Formats: sequence, C-alpha cells, structure tokens
Amino acid sequence: MTSNARNVAIVGAGPVGSLMAVYCANRGWNVHIYESRPDMRLPENKAKIQNRSINLALSVRGLTALKGTGLALDELIMKSGLPMRGRMLHIGREGNLVSQNYGVHGECINSVDRAKLNEDLITAAEALSNVKITFDHALKRADLDKGTLELQNKITKEIVKAEADLIIGCDGAYSSVRNSLMRHVRMDFGQEYIPHGYCELSIPAKVGADGQPEFAMDPEHLHIWPRHKFMMIALPNPDKSFTVTLFMPFVNFEMIHNEGDLLNFFDEYFTDAVTLMGKDLLVKEYFKNPKGSLVMIRANPYHYKDRCIILGDAAHSMVPFYGQGMNCGFEDVRILDSLFSEFNVKPTKQGDADKSLELALQAYTDRRAKDLKAICELALNNYIEMRHDVTSPVYIMRRSIESW
Ligand code: FAD
Repeated sequence: MTSNARNVAIVGAGPVGSLMAVYCANRGWNVHIYESRPDMRLPENKAKIQNRSINLALSVRGLTALKGTGLALDELIMKSGLPMRGRMLHIGREGNLVSQNYGVHGECINSVDRAKLNEDLITAAEALSNVKITFDHALKRADLDKGTLELQNKITKEIVKAEADLIIGCDGAYSSVRNSLMRHVRMDFGQEYIPHGYCELSIPAKVGADGQPEFAMDPEHLHIWPRHKFMMIALPNPDKSFTVTLFMPFVNFEMIHNEGDLLNFFDEYFTDAVTLMGKDLLVKEYFKNPKGSLVMIRANPYHYKDRCIILGDAAHSMVPFYGQGMNCGFEDVRILDSLFSEFNVKPTKQGDADKSLELALQAYTDRRAKDLKAICELALNNYIEMRHDVTSPVYIMRRSIESW
C-alpha cells in the first residue's frame, strides 16, 4: 500500500467490485475490498455460495471494460468463453429449429462461467500490491461525511470499523451502500419485482462416437424455446453441457406440484428438450433448484460529493433478458474511470473536499442516468421479444433477410 495515496473502500467483490478494484489500483490508489461472503475460490466455500446463474453472456460492452485494465483480462476470461453467433429458436412442440444470427459480420456474445469469471477477477485484483480483500465482512452502515464504515465479521459477529476517502458500492441489488447514500442525498429510488421467476436446469453432454463428451445441441447458439407467456433458454458450457433456464410466471411454477405435473408440462411445451435433458435429471433438478425472483432497481443520483458512488446492480439491477446486467456494470467502471481522467483526479487525496473527484462523480450521475434508464427498459422489452415476437412469421422473415 502507498502511504500518501487515496484510500478507497469497495463494498462487494462481485464482478463489478473486483473490476473496479483493478481500475482504482491502476490509478495508484490504496484499495480495500470488503465482501460479505467467504472467499469463493476456496473449495470448502464453493458449495456455500449460491450464484444467480451458472453461466452468463459476456458481450463486447463487458469485454471492452475488461480490456481497459491493460492486464488482458478480456483474453483471460475468453480462454474458456464460448462464442454464440446467434439465437437458435426451438419453435412449436416438436422444436423445429430456426437460426437467427446476431449480426451480419459474425458478431457474437460469449457464454462464460459466472463463478470462474468472478474468481479470475478477484485473483487479478488481489495480485496488485495496493489491493487488499477482506472476506466474510458485511457492511452494515457507512457515514459518508466522516468516511467511516461499520462492518460485521460474519464469523465472529463482531462489529469492525474502517475508514476511506471514497466508498464505492458494488454490493448488488440489495446494496447497503445505497441505503447509506439515501440518507445523504434526495435519491429517486424504485424497486420492482416482475411476476416471473426462473429455475436453472441442464442438458448434459452426450457421449460421442469416440466415447468423448459432445454437445447435445449446436454450441454456437443461444437456444431459445419461445412459448409466448414464458420461455426457456440454454447456454453452452466448456464441459459440453448446457445450462438451461426456465423463465415463467410464479403462478405457473406454483401449478407444478409433482413429477407428473412437471413431465406433462415439459411434454407439452418442450418435447425436444426433455429428450436431451433426460426425465430423471429434469425431475431431480427442477425440484431441487431454487426458483429465483427478478428485481429491477432504479436510483438517481448515484453519488454523494467526493465521498461515495454506487455502480453495477447496486445502482441499476435489471431483468436478465438482454444479457447486459453485468456487462453494463463493467461499462459503469470503464466510464467512471474515463471521467477520473477527464477531470484530472489525482492519485493522492486533495484536502478535505476534493473538487476534481466531486466533479467526476457528478458528471457520472449526469451523463450515465439516461443510458442506464434506457438499458433497463430494453432489458424488459427484450423478454417480450424473446418469448413471443421472435416466433412471428414476419419477424423470422425479416431476420433471415437481414442475415443474408
Ligand atoms: P453482484 O453480482 O450482486 O455482486 C455483489 C457482491 O456484493 C456479492 O459478492 C455480494 O456477496 C456482495 N455484498 C452484498 N451485500 C454486501 C454487504 N453488505 N457487504 C459486503 N459485501 C456485500 N448479466 C449479464 O451481463 N449477462 C447475462 O447473461 C446475465 N444473465 C443473468 C441471468 C440471471 C438468471 C440473473 C439473475 C442475472 C443475470 N445477469 C446477467 C445480471 C448479472 O448477474 C448482474 O448484473 C451482475 O451480477 C451484477 O454484478 P455486481 O457485481 O454489480 O453485483
């Protein structure tokens, strides 16, 4: 740690907090990350940590921010990423296949393992000499004027105090930093649950002619079973399996009470998928795996003076249908960093009120709000596109003409 440098506390070592730590460390700042969960990289903790999805789609928006660290983190993450060049629609009961490319120049989104991505980013941050990570410490409250944080050690339950010149909240949709920020600014805030939830399932690898595992479906596509009021999607994994996510209104989940209900439902709507999943695995996973809820968060402003800012899901949790929640959080980091440069924010703390830092944070709120509002709306609208619009004959015709 550098003695004279600005001290930054980042709350949350999720994807966004870990990436922000690397960017701040690159500026020569002293970074301390506080994470409420245990270290997810340790084998004994893996089972304890429940992630929201097994894999997720990493797009050029996210890759650009990873590349911006100068540490080739985009290449590191993409070593195990699987490019998906389009959607594969499974239309009707029989699952007739229709491919729709994402772009005419071979543009892709990439399926990546969420846990591995997060672990790689934590390791990249921790490798920097001016970054320290404290796991098992949950922020309870922060006094933004004093720059103090109160954290609870999750193991001993004791309350620990810490100090920072700048507090960056990357602590997800139910952010404690945001709660503290609300006490200091007139924050417009909204939280909305959509009536749909999700359940993760899987399609295992099949055994190929040579006895080796093979993908059971085309791995260069994000597979979608659009069923108008609900849908199922599948993304490929490096071990040749697919992670499948069923998105559906909670009332429909609640109508499935037993194995018979489940198999009847899948036979009616996802006949081709049942064959690939195998009935036993489907039943086991459906009844074992949680049914997750989907929350949208909107907040404004995102900052307080030169003292605090919230990024990622803490500022703008969105529904996952555009595959942009984390990508957009990564973009938050890249844009905030570019504003630090634009406003010539120094590596050392500049007195009690740091005007250039305050201007940079203010510019972030002013310039970012419109884009964040737009992407949250696009994400919600894309659910209707994915589960319904893609099946319309006009849509299919238009997409096939566009991809010629
Ligand atoms: P989080 O991932 O929520 O991380 C927050 C971290 O803060 C966690 O480690 C948490 O333990 C910690 N924390 C929380 N509270 C405290 C506290 N009080 N003190 C200390 N630490 C704390 N996005 C995409 O870009 N592409 C996709 O394909 C995609 N698919 C998705 C699929 C599903 C089903 C869901 C639900 C989401 C999906 N997302 C996707 C969205 C993506 O998961 C989020 O946008 C992303 O995880 C946000 O990262 P984050 O670091 O801001 O927050």
